Amino acid sequence: MGIREKILSIRERIERSKRNAPELNTPVLLVGVTKGVGLERLREAIQGGLGDLGENRVLEAQGKISHVQEGVQWHMVGHLQRNKVRDAIQLFHLIHSVDSLRLAQAIEKEASLVGKEVPVLLQVNLQGKTAPFGASVDSAAFLVKEISSLKHLKLSGLMTIAPLTEDPEKTRPYFRRLWELKKALERENPSLALRYLSMGMSQDFEVAIEEGANVVRIGRAIFGTG
Ligand SMILES: *Cc1c(COP(=O)(O)O)cnc(C)c1O
Repeated sequence: MGIREKILSIRERIERSKRNAPELNTPVLLVGVTKGVGLERLREAIQGGLGDLGENRVLEAQGKISHVQEGVQWHMVGHLQRNKVRDAIQLFHLIHSVDSLRLAQAIEKEASLVGKEVPVLLQVNLQGKTAPFGASVDSAAFLVKEISSLKHLKLSGLMTIAPLTEDPEKTRPYFRRLWELKKALERENPSLALRYLSMGMSQDFEVAIEEGANVVRIGRAIFGTG
């Protein structure tokens, strides 16, 4: 299968999963994750209809973004270091990986210097100590309040990474917890609009959509071999 066919097949699977997600009444955004993918295949994906692309390192993203045509929205899906924030807010349409107040404040500072409003998601770690990044569930309510008070950040939703497992069914409780956390946070803060739930990757995006994901981040299933 070529990249175009893979994208079509993923889109079909997304539509099928949506039918099993009665509570989900928004479109599902497919972000093609292009880390490690060269320019040629990147262009093929764009020609194949992918308009949203994700990277997990600022430097790698920078090298690519200058080479591809406009009309693509880039997403930062990986851990963001504070010394890369200045570049990141210029490069990315949405930062999925805000997971601390210090990082949020660094974005606020750089964004205020250039008069930009930066859409961000709060990355939540539902795996406990086994995952290196992401805010704890216990700190989410505090962080949501603090980030919402920063003038140049637009808190637009939540993101999580489920544990890697052979059996996608095992990821379901994690996705369900993020959905429930979103509902609880919105109940506590009626002015919040957590529009995006970014969860689900190549292995587990169908389960994630059934549990309410409306952004899926897919790399290997599009760019992998076989
Ligand atoms: C690499 C990556 C993905 C895509 O993972 P695949 O398993 O290749 O689909 C999604 N999200 C993040 C944060 C990643 O780093």
